[in-house]
Amino acid sequence: MTRVDERFALAGGIAAEVIDAAVRKVKEGARLLDVAAFAEALIAEKGAKPAFPINISINQRAAHYTPDIDDEACFQKGDLVKVDIGVHVDGYIGDVARSKAVGGRHRELIKAAEAALEAAIELIKPGVATNEVGGVVEKTIHGFGFRPVSNLTGHRLTEWNLHGGVVVPNVRTMHGYRLKEGDVFAIEPFATDGAGRVVDEPKAMIFRYLSDRPVRMREARLILGFVKENYSTLPFAERWIAHLVPRFKLGLALRQLVSSKALHAYHVLKEKENGLVSQAEHSILVTSGGCEILTEV
Ligand code: MN
Ligand code: MN
Repeated sequence: MTRVDERFALAGGIAAEVIDAAVRKVKEGARLLDVAAFAEALIAEKGAKPAFPINISINQRAAHYTPDIDDEACFQKGDLVKVDIGVHVDGYIGDVARSKAVGGRHRELIKAAEAALEAAIELIKPGVATNEVGGVVEKTIHGFGFRPVSNLTGHRLTEWNLHGGVVVPNVRTMHGYRLKEGDVFAIEPFATDGAGRVVDEPKAMIFRYLSDRPVRMREARLILGFVKENYSTLPFAERWIAHLVPRFKLGLALRQLVSSKALHAYHVLKEKENGLVSQAEHSILVTSGGCEILTEV
C-alpha cells in the first residue's frame, strides 16, 4: 500500500466501525437525531471528522436526509432505513452505507442491494470499465425482481473530494471509465420496488460550499465564512451551523446563499413512484489483481 492508500484505509476503517455501531442503534422508538449525534461523536472520538453529515433515509427516501436540530422523528416498526456514513482523515474519505429493516421486513429488497454490491466487488479489477460494473449491478438487482435506481451512482473518491469526477452507474451504460490500480471508488447500488429513479423533495438539510459570493445578509456572510473554513469542499448539515445565527434567520440565510450560488443544496431524494429503496455501499481500492474493501472492520 502506498501512503495515500494507507490514509484511505484509515478513514475507511473508522467509517466501518462507526457504521456498525450506528446501525445497532437503529431500533423502533429510537430518535434519528440521537443516532446521528452518536455516530458523529464516535467519529470525533476516533480522531476523524465526518466527510458529510450522516444520512438516515427511510422507506421512499433514498438519500440526503439528515436530522434537523430539533428533529423529533423516531424509527418505526416496518421502516426500511438506510444509514450512510462518511469519514475523513485529512481529506482522505471513507464512504459506507447499509440498510436495516426495523422489525425485519423487506429482506429481499435489502439482499438485492447487498448482492449487487458483492457482484460489483467480485468483478472489479484493473481494466474493467465502470459501465460493466453498472451492468452487473443492474442484472443482479433484476434477478431479485427489483429495479436499480438509475440516477444514483457510485463515485470516485479523491482527496477532499467526495465525487472525484468519475461515476459508477447502477445500470449498464454506453461508455465507461477503465478502472486502474490505485483508484479509490465508492460503489453503492440502490434497489427499489418503484420506478427506479429518484426525484428532489423541496427540503434540503445538507449543503456544501461552492464559492465566495456577495450576499446582503450579515448572517449569511457569517455562515459562508464559517463553512469555508471548517468544511472546505465537503458537505455539512444545517444543524452543524445552527449555533452561529439566531434560529429565525437560519433558513433565510441559507436560502440566500443557495440562490446566489455560494452554497450547493443537497435536496432530500425520494423514489419517483414512492417505491421502497434499499442501499449497500463500500469504498474500495483497486489493486493489481482485484480490489480491496476499505470500509470493512
Ligand atoms: Mn455514502
Ligand atoms: Mn457514496
